[in-house]
Amino acid sequence: MKINWLEAVQNRREQIIEETQDFLRIDSVLDESTASQSRPFGEGIARALEHLLTKGEKLHFFVKNMDGYAGVIEYGQGEESVGILCHIDVVPAGEGWTSPPFSAEIRDNRIYARGAIDNKGPTIAAFWALQLVKELQLPIHKRVRMIIGTDEESNWRCVDHYFKQEEMPTVGFAPDADFPIIHAEKGIMDVTFNWEDKKGETDAAIKVMSFNAGERFNMVPDRAEVTITGQRQQLDEIETQYQAYLLEHNHNGQAQFKDKSLQLSYEGISAHGSTPENGLNAGVYLAQFLLQFSYQPSANEFLHRINHYCDFTGEALQIAVSDDVSGALSMNAGLFQFKENGEAIMGLNIRYPVTTSGEECINKLRQLAKEWDARFEVLDHMGPNYVEKDHPLIQTLQAVYQRQTGEEAHLLAIGGGTYARSLKTGVAFGPMFPGREDVAHKKDEYIDIDDLIKMTALYAEAIYELAKG
Ligand SMILES: [Zn+2]
Repeated sequence: MKINWLEAVQNRREQIIEETQDFLRIDSVLDESTASQSRPFGEGIARALEHLLTKGEKLHFFVKNMDGYAGVIEYGQGEESVGILCHIDVVPAGEGWTSPPFSAEIRDNRIYARGAIDNKGPTIAAFWALQLVKELQLPIHKRVRMIIGTDEESNWRCVDHYFKQEEMPTVGFAPDADFPIIHAEKGIMDVTFNWEDKKGETDAAIKVMSFNAGERFNMVPDRAEVTITGQRQQLDEIETQYQAYLLEHNHNGQAQFKDKSLQLSYEGISAHGSTPENGLNAGVYLAQFLLQFSYQPSANEFLHRINHYCDFTGEALQIAVSDDVSGALSMNAGLFQFKENGEAIMGLNIRYPVTTSGEECINKLRQLAKEWDARFEVLDHMGPNYVEKDHPLIQTLQAVYQRQTGEEAHLLAIGGGTYARSLKTGVAFGPMFPGREDVAHKKDEYIDIDDLIKMTALYAEAIYELAKG
């Protein structure tokens, strides 16, 4: 059957635009203050979910509201299922918008609204794609199931709740990242080393009273602070050297005397934890400076460990590894804390290649912690997401993308995590076309209307091709 998908979608253009606007006008930011048992994430999210499920009902799709945590819209019959994982919650609008963030105003062929690209616009695209397959009365032999999440931007309680009760689709995609296809996402873990001073006090001439850098594991610390005490003369010397160090590196920072102590702050550059090399780790740079001097043993040891072990690749920790699919392990040292009593914390965000073992990495770190006499903890661990390139899911989506766009459907591997991870055999498929600026979570978020139409056509053909067999 030869179908011109783009033309079929173009014929419904006005309606798709209007429905997208309607949907975007519902403020669906997480709001615990209006939460109730049946509306666990507040009124706005509940209304958005009900809005979509009502549309599904009108078209005689099977719909299900899962206690307000997630929704299902399903079409077709069959043993197997094709999942489309979307989410309808949005991050708070923030300040500085040109038009109100929930007005869905159209300017320059774009719909401006919070959630336009992440992820309510693409959700309507997927919904329309399903509607089109139904309207065209195409024969399909699998169930096509939209899984509608409501807590993606916060804690993924939606998918947790969904998968506790409902089936895992045989294959699926999430229109919540980039085109062409993201088929590999590294494993991600947050770990901490935690130790205390067992060396006892010495009467060091200068002492580190506290050291702090970073707040979140997945961000490069953009600020570090240390407080040092000692003889004024020595502190003066450190201060002088510090100014020289800042100049030498052309970095910003401050030195300030307070009571009998010297406080130094260092300004780094923040970056996402998946690309630590794009940032400037304030904690690492400050530690490197401080190591020119000697302090109490616990502080010396703390600074040495930062300086020696906190690289971008895990080389010094002996966990460096790489594969052909997703490249090298990356590491972000996102959190450092040291207290006067010798308590120290080092927090790392580690992203390991898809074909390597997270457990092996953990075992090596555990071994090292023993040598350090430190406690080691894995605070968070998401295994890699990986669908091999010759899997029928990939082959089908590649063929659809190439046919419709005329461009090659490169497979992407990333260090970040996408919603597709929630699926057992799933990839991210759109909605951002190559070269588009990423406006998700930013002010004046928008979806380009031609892109909206294009992605609807892509999703429609993808649904048909995946479900027909
Ligand atoms: Zn999203």
